[in-house]
Amino acid sequence: MTEDKYSKYEVVVGLEVHAQLSTHSKMYCADSTEFGASPNTQVSPLSLGLPGTLPVVNEMAIEYAVKIGLATRSDIRYENQFARKNYFYADLPKGYQITQDKTPICTNGTIEFEVNGEKKSVRLTRIHLEEDAGKSIHDIDPYFTLVDLNRAGTPLIEIVSEPDIRSGEEAMEYLYEVQKLLRYLDISDANMEEGNMRCDANISVRLKGTSAYNPRSEVKNMNSARNVKRAIEFEFKRQVDLMDAGEKLTQETRGFDAVKGNTLTQRSKEHAHDYRYFPEPDLPPVFVTEEYIAKVQKDMPKLAAELKQEYMQQYGLPEYDARLLSEDKFTSAYFTGLLSCTKNFKAASNWMLGPVKNYLNENGLAIQQFEVLPSTIASLIALIDEGKTNFSVASTKIFPAVAQSGKEPLAVAQELNLLQSSDEGLIKELAEAVIAKYPEKVVEYRSGKKGLLGLFVGEVMKLSKGKADPKLTNQILNDLLQ
Ligand code: MN
Repeated sequence: MTEDKYSKYEVVVGLEVHAQLSTHSKMYCADSTEFGASPNTQVSPLSLGLPGTLPVVNEMAIEYAVKIGLATRSDIRYENQFARKNYFYADLPKGYQITQDKTPICTNGTIEFEVNGEKKSVRLTRIHLEEDAGKSIHDIDPYFTLVDLNRAGTPLIEIVSEPDIRSGEEAMEYLYEVQKLLRYLDISDANMEEGNMRCDANISVRLKGTSAYNPRSEVKNMNSARNVKRAIEFEFKRQVDLMDAGEKLTQETRGFDAVKGNTLTQRSKEHAHDYRYFPEPDLPPVFVTEEYIAKVQKDMPKLAAELKQEYMQQYGLPEYDARLLSEDKFTSAYFTGLLSCTKNFKAASNWMLGPVKNYLNENGLAIQQFEVLPSTIASLIALIDEGKTNFSVASTKIFPAVAQSGKEPLAVAQELNLLQSSDEGLIKELAEAVIAKYPEKVVEYRSGKKGLLGLFVGEVMKLSKGKADPKLTNQILNDLLQ
């Protein structure tokens, strides 16, 4: 088994992402979607799929779908029909799912992201609206499977990509980008671990340089981006091994075992479902007008990519800073606030990525829970820029005390006696004393040993109990030692 065998092949991956929309009510009825309620308490006859009930489309879900469509530069369909996808399962009380078949609300979109510094673009086949099923619970009762229908009817969008992904790494970055978009748009929590964003991967392999698609395996229902990457890497090896041994690949559905790190067959193509799609007779088409799309467009928030550009171009920040600060919606909101309170943009970025981030990590807080205002961080930056303190004292002594007490940085610094002295007369006095104390060092310095300046500065700092402004001290000593 040589490395060569694998390097001749490439993996071809398309992803299907299901994301729960964070609407308050369900896709086709008014039942609450609130998480954590007791089992089967958020179920009207509609969620239960009782005969004679009539679905109504949730308008908010349409708006959310239009938002993700705009964010991915998709074509948005004006006339939206719904369809029944028929299958039998205990957690699907109607016996069918209402989804969109021939008329997905968004088509031809694009998702752009970076993989190891390289730009990558993945085409989207479609984004459509549908409803979630209930939940089967296998591990509470020793004999029976229990069913909770609270989730039944929760709105989902399904984002289907073209097979443009070429590695596990790319798949992972794609999923992070989808997550970022959904969160910036505030239309889904997009938390894979909690199951409100799930991913199926269609994976095949082929010889590099060829363009035909080979039979693929569809790995279902993965709940972390890392597992998607692992499944793709496992499938690549497994399929290349089969192909290289001259065996025939078949289309099949597989599951990923996160503990073992492998995939296992679930059903082959012969046992594939025939869902017998047909137009949903109980729902009229939903029309999305151009004016409606324009209205949604007007209220679109700035997205991560746009903010990143802004941080770089308008505020002159390095790409690295801009990327980190735009990754999360709440972080960027805070940072944008901070940028409006200071002119020292690079210092603002340094504070966010240094002291603020560390403080949040150490205290297990999200930035939304951070009580120090952006204007207070700006005051800390100003204290440094005015020479009243330095970064080290400000970040390790003043800032933690500010975060604790909620007081203003200047007041805290005064209270703790941490303000630097910019008293030129005093520093000069101390500098003269130091010079008088080390006559030989002065001679050495003047004969060219400029490195000795550090010694003099250190002595002045010591005499001032660390409070002399180091920049001013440097300047004064330089003058005196001429
Ligand atoms: Mn689906």
